[in-house]
Amino acid sequence: MFIIMLGPPGAGKGTQARNISKKLNIPHIASGDILRERVRIADDELSKKIREHMLRGELVPDDIVIKIIHDRLSQNDCEHGAVLDGYPRTLAQAKALDAFLESKNKRVEIVINLDVPDDEVIKRLTYRRLCPKCNRIYHLLFNPPKNNELCDICNVKLIQRIDDREDIVKKRLEEYRNRTSSLINYYAEKHILYIVN
Ligand code: ADP
Ligand code: ZN
Repeated sequence: MFIIMLGPPGAGKGTQARNISKKLNIPHIASGDILRERVRIADDELSKKIREHMLRGELVPDDIVIKIIHDRLSQNDCEHGAVLDGYPRTLAQAKALDAFLESKNKRVEIVINLDVPDDEVIKRLTYRRLCPKCNRIYHLLFNPPKNNELCDICNVKLIQRIDDREDIVKKRLEEYRNRTSSLINYYAEKHILYIVN
């Protein structure tokens, strides 16, 4: 089953996607994690371009993201589905994904929209920390690690994402409102949208 998680940055897409992935035993495909990993392992022009957009809180151009994510979805472990977290984020990406899945006789079956107001998102993201090793997410107030800023599982020091700074968070929210929120209608019209407060 192919499931899409929608919602503004900080809504909890990653946390919920991870739960669903475990429960249904299908891979969790987090576009942000895949892009950050691409930038980390390859020091080339493409990485430079991706990094520039990410640092500014802007969406990475469609053609780049579509290629990278569809390559990932072409791997064997996605044969029976995946939970998509952070992709698609534009109408062009949503249409490209539909075409990609259709070519394999598959389709998106469920879209979950996590609906969270802006002020809540800002509060969540500025206190968010993550484990650089396993990508597990913590919140310093609401979901703190057991030991002072160390991952409960890996015991390594948690980090703050550079783009979780307040000014960049605002830019990411703006991108979400301007470009991603239209996907809510796109999937509502297909009758596969579920809204979670
Ligand atoms: P969040 O949902 O918390 O904002 P992500 O880790 O999903 O964070 O994304 C971080 C950044 O990666 C985005 O701000 C954007 O620059 C880039 N990115 C991730 N997914 C996409 C996508 N589908 N299209 C364009 N850019 C993306
Ligand atoms: Zn960890």
